Amino acid sequence: MPLPSPCPATLIPAYSMATRSASTPTDLSFAQLLRAHGLRATAQRRAIYSVFADAARADAANAHLSAEEVFQQARLHLPELSRATVYNALGELVEAGLLGLVEGPGPRRFDANVAPHHHFRCRHCHELHDVELAHVDVTLRERGFHVESSHVLLEGLCPRCAADAPADLR
Ligand SMILES: [Zn+2]
Ligand SMILES: [Zn+2]
Repeated sequence: MPLPSPCPATLIPAYSMATRSASTPTDLSFAQLLRAHGLRATAQRRAIYSVFADAARADAANAHLSAEEVFQQARLHLPELSRATVYNALGELVEAGLLGLVEGPGPRRFDANVAPHHHFRCRHCHELHDVELAHVDVTLRERGFHVESSHVLLEGLCPRCAADAPADLR
């Protein structure tokens, strides 16, 4: 149990990826992982899953992709992929527990991080960032609440949009 920190909402830094490797696709063979979850390792599924691995490698706390983004990027690996195949495969990967799903506002996003976590959504660029709120449930438990699940969404401006925004948007 981590010690309480003065600021309970901490953006998960990208370097924490290594400690979360079990829940992210980077360091496991896709084929192995798919088979371990009862899915055949088809070229389509591997192309789709590798899009998430690439995104997680680029920014571990920010690998949340819409179906359309997955389609556009997976097509670069496998040009014959159809939109319907990508949408179906995404559903299968969520069902198998290999991807998380975050509902809108905006397009639903598929999440490479399947460990329990919360999100910060930028209201300008709509990007999602993983957030750890480790102490909220502890605080509630101390007050006698039985927390069974939690889905916390924080909203505002990401650092990039905050820097770009004219003063009236901030
Ligand atoms: Zn933003
Ligand atoms: Zn996430």
